[in-house]
Amino acid sequence: MTEPTPAVPWERLAADRSIVARYEAKAYRGPGPGDHHWWLGAISDSGHGKLRVGSRTAGTRRVVNVHVLGWAIAHGTMDLRNGAVVRHTCDEPSCQNPEHWRLGDRLQNILDFQARRGLSGHALADARGAKGRAVAVRDAILDAAPGTEADAIAAALAAGHPSGDHQDGLW
Ligand SMILES: [Zn+2]
Repeated sequence: MTEPTPAVPWERLAADRSIVARYEAKAYRGPGPGDHHWWLGAISDSGHGKLRVGSRTAGTRRVVNVHVLGWAIAHGTMDLRNGAVVRHTCDEPSCQNPEHWRLGDRLQNILDFQARRGLSGHALADARGAKGRAVAVRDAILDAAPGTEADAIAAALAAGHPSGDHQDGLW
């Protein structure tokens, strides 16, 4: 029998200055106020940023979704305790810009994904899939010469749409 996974202690994680510092160091912030903040760390199959937290010796080690951690850092944990999920209005699951997050529920998430993934040129229609897209952007930023990140990001995003179509988030 497997033990039920204990709830993630978001409040404690968001109050841990070393965890917050590690989180901040892995978010690449473009210069524009509306730019995505791309995650430069580990990426899950769904394209979401991941961060390992906790201590192996204390038995508290786990891997968390960083956009939820980011929400807890920016806004506190009350809504998370009430079962809300953190959604991306920009449809870039690795994005850490708090302006691009909204609270919702899982059903909304599923319905939005189904409605938008068929849109030509849309982020959700990227030929590489969500993980491939987020990894391509991450690696493009890490490999870019200083000052050329914006061009590297644009090229990495365009590479997922061989047809040349492009469509931003629709919210
Ligand atoms: Zn974004």
